[in-house]
Amino acid sequence: MPLISRRGLLASLMPQPQTQPNILFIMSDDHAAHAISAYGSKINSTPNIDRLAKEGVRFDNCFCTNSICTPSRAAILTGQYSHINGVNTLDDSIDIKRPTIATHLQSFGYQTAMIGKWHLGTQPQGFDHWRILPGQGVYYDPFFLEKTGRKQYQGYCTDIITDFAIDFLKERDASKPFFLMCHHKAPHRPWDPGPKYKNLFDDKDIPEPSNLYQPVGRGLKMRVGEDTTERDLKMKPPEGLTGDALRKWAYQRYMKDYLRCVQSVDDSVGRILDHLDANNLRENTIVIYTSDQGFFLGDHGMFDKRLMYEESLRMPFLARYPKEIKAGTRNSDISLNIDFAPTFLDYAGMGRDPKMQGESFRQNLQGRTPPTWRQSMYYRYWMHDDRDHHVPGHYGVRTKTHKLIRYQTTEPEYELFDMKKDPHEMTNLASKQPALVATLKREITRLQHKYGDKPYELSSSQ
Ligand code: CA
Repeated sequence: MPLISRRGLLASLMPQPQTQPNILFIMSDDHAAHAISAYGSKINSTPNIDRLAKEGVRFDNCFCTNSICTPSRAAILTGQYSHINGVNTLDDSIDIKRPTIATHLQSFGYQTAMIGKWHLGTQPQGFDHWRILPGQGVYYDPFFLEKTGRKQYQGYCTDIITDFAIDFLKERDASKPFFLMCHHKAPHRPWDPGPKYKNLFDDKDIPEPSNLYQPVGRGLKMRVGEDTTERDLKMKPPEGLTGDALRKWAYQRYMKDYLRCVQSVDDSVGRILDHLDANNLRENTIVIYTSDQGFFLGDHGMFDKRLMYEESLRMPFLARYPKEIKAGTRNSDISLNIDFAPTFLDYAGMGRDPKMQGESFRQNLQGRTPPTWRQSMYYRYWMHDDRDHHVPGHYGVRTKTHKLIRYQTTEPEYELFDMKKDPHEMTNLASKQPALVATLKREITRLQHKYGDKPYELSSSQ
């Protein structure tokens, strides 16, 4: 046999060095960026999540295209807006025939796994291994759905999800690259802390946001105090407490439990990073930490999300990949949850799926922003006036400097904010700056056309 052929044969029999990077996607539920110390939190410390910022990149303008759990998860998997992937509201399920980042990566040789909160109605597709919480799941002694059926596990949900993720890393086929989605239930409502942190913050008050006592309009049912329940607060409010005093008291109650839940998520990130580092997986693994959307931490007097305001719209996004991402960098490019799937395809060497509407931000992660990168983002919330929260449907545009929101009201109703001068969105400038409103309306129209969405039909004066 000629030498060259023998070499070729030998090469084909030898284990090939893994060139595709592993992708470890850690996502929590409702974890706002302003409850992460790497993002400058004034209320808590998250040393393990901060490691990703120190050893990788922090994205400061990563936004959700529809700030609610199920739709954001579908947007992440499909790389598409809600009106395209069909998951507009919490009640929608993802179509099992629809290609996702998981089906793509699986077909390209990745070993794929989904562990934790799924919340997409139908069974996960494209995953070699999955263990998911039914629906929202519970914090203590949770059931999990697996390929073999339904099984209950003793313990605290965040710790169990972490154990399962590490089990997968230990037991996987090491000859293949892996794609692991590790999705925490925490720190979603009703904020049940783990045993380790039940008494964290007992001896201190959580600092209040500057606009905690802002009146909450529009009939929104997301008011801290009036709308937080006994289940949320784990007790009835003291007799006679009303108004600002009730809000002050309820803020401490729910925020302490929320932050206690966050602390267990932070521990989880630390355990997973330690496992990667100890098992020679650091260099060739992209590690992401994000959340399905943001959350109001008493901001504007509210809890929950849904609205296009910053605290709800912004997703934390931290990434470590020593081969390509410089440690300790920051990026302010506008990135979206629909960009995640195209980015992972890019890393896997798969090119683009033309049906995905997002863009790969692999270059942005390296600090090399493409000159044609987007300067604005389109947002749309579809659960118009739902029974529990009474948030109107709305859509809008966010640029680096401004935001225009159009509410789903019979008479067109707009909010315009100057994001540089008024980062907390306290002053609606819509009536004062008609020229800018007109410019941003045109930008909404352009983006609706680009993404295949339509304006409200109930008004002709769009
Ligand atoms: Ca969520």
